[in-house]
Amino acid sequence: MNVDFYHHTLGAEEKQAVSDTLDNLFIALGPKVEEFEEKFADYLGIPNVVATSSCSMSLLLALEALGIGEGDEVITTPMTFVATSNAVLQSGADLKFADIDPDSGLIDPQEIEKQITSKTEAIIPVHLYGQMADMRAVREIADAHDLCVIEDSAQAIEATRDGVSVGELGDMATFSFYATKPMTCGNGGAIAVHNDELAEKLSELRLHGVTKSAADRHGDEYEHWDMDKLGYKAPMTDIDASILMPQLNRLEKQRKQRKDLVNLYREKLGDHPDIDLVKRKGEPSYHLFTVRVDNRDQILSELDEYNIDCAVNYRAVHTLEYYREELGYRPDDFPKARMFGRRTISLPLYPDLEREKVEYVCDSLKEILQ
Ligand SMILES: *Cc1c(COP(=O)(O)O)cnc(C)c1O
Repeated sequence: MNVDFYHHTLGAEEKQAVSDTLDNLFIALGPKVEEFEEKFADYLGIPNVVATSSCSMSLLLALEALGIGEGDEVITTPMTFVATSNAVLQSGADLKFADIDPDSGLIDPQEIEKQITSKTEAIIPVHLYGQMADMRAVREIADAHDLCVIEDSAQAIEATRDGVSVGELGDMATFSFYATKPMTCGNGGAIAVHNDELAEKLSELRLHGVTKSAADRHGDEYEHWDMDKLGYKAPMTDIDASILMPQLNRLEKQRKQRKDLVNLYREKLGDHPDIDLVKRKGEPSYHLFTVRVDNRDQILSELDEYNIDCAVNYRAVHTLEYYREELGYRPDDFPKARMFGRRTISLPLYPDLEREKVEYVCDSLKEILQ
């Protein structure tokens, strides 16, 4: 047997949608992007969505729109993809890590409080593996210190926890439509934002700060565009938006398919003495199924011999070379994240993964651990 780590679910509907878009005059930032923004905002129940080229760029644009940069401090978690903390570095702000809750891998609100100073301007909680961070606690801390909250929701479009959904309590939430995410167009992203003025600013910042896009200008008599802020080139395209829209209708069905598979994994692995499951918080999106084991690297290579593709999400960011060599972090600066990251393995998970394959993965892992 051979088990891939991930399969996307793009098919006939998306092919038709792309083909329709290619018949249009506009293929870059145009009416399809606008339609996607409205539909995704409806789905999330948040007034504004600005569609971008990635979650990475969305995080940077979010910080820029809030005016956060040199002299400011931003708190996030070391247990995430490097995109989160890299965006803080790229903004010019000082990065502050807060250690994690060792059972869930999520940022620990008490550790956030320890990192707050008079220079702190924002917190970026990450909804790891599709489980939401404790947003009620994060919002309370942010309100007490007058801080902004940007939710890195790359893995958690559909999640809820404690009666709160993704993006509800944050000032902004950023999303990823990268190839391995539950909804994808290869590369793509979005920012959900409650404040209308910030939405306007984000939408200009994603296109070099110019005041009108080509599609905006089309049809009228020629009008000069101007540029009033220094922005980036990071818009979504109409081609991407047309691939994404059909997937919005499948999100909940596919989340349930993944949930069933996760329940099967948990049933088969839950009481094994050498496997630690990640503690479930709220109702996750079930983006990744990650377990923790000792001698992780050895087990990864043995799983490979069983033709099972796995991934590591993640080694703690502060233990990576750039962070050690250029920024001076030491592995033990955030011991809980370091330990978590030394033991994680993400097992295959996607809507059309067969139950027999999940059983094969579980049986193989148990054999290896014997
Ligand atoms: C995937 C991911 C990102 C980056 O998303 P891109 O769209 O690839 O830029 C950021 N944060 C987290 C937590 C992610 O999982």
